[in-house]
Amino acid sequence: MHEGPATREMLELVLAHAGGRRVRVIRLRLGPLAGMVPECVELYFEQMSKGTVAEGATLVFEPEAVEVTCRGCGERRGIDDASRTHVMEALAAGCTCGAADLSVTAGAAFYLTSIEV
Ligand SMILES: [Zn+2]
Repeated sequence: MHEGPATREMLELVLAHAGGRRVRVIRLRLGPLAGMVPECVELYFEQMSKGTVAEGATLVFEPEAVEVTCRGCGERRGIDDASRTHVMEALAAGCTCGAADLSVTAGAAFYLTSIEV
């Protein structure tokens, strides 16, 4: 569980961008492999933003698709069912070129994309 520190970091960034203006909407990119539960982020945010211009802002989570890349041939493949087990299976299965060296290149993001003030 690292929603706490990550949410604090995000809030500080939001406040810096807001420059004293009231924040209405905060858009966040969140990949399924980030290990962050949106509900937890919302809870932390609610507590941490009290008394700031970001208090009461709506959090909008934009999902990031999971993608694995073959280090052998460079082929990228999206994974629709992004459960951890499924991703592990895809990594273990290897690439159609025969290489077994795949890495996850997208899906673990957690970052601020924009704010509306
Ligand atoms: Zn390959």
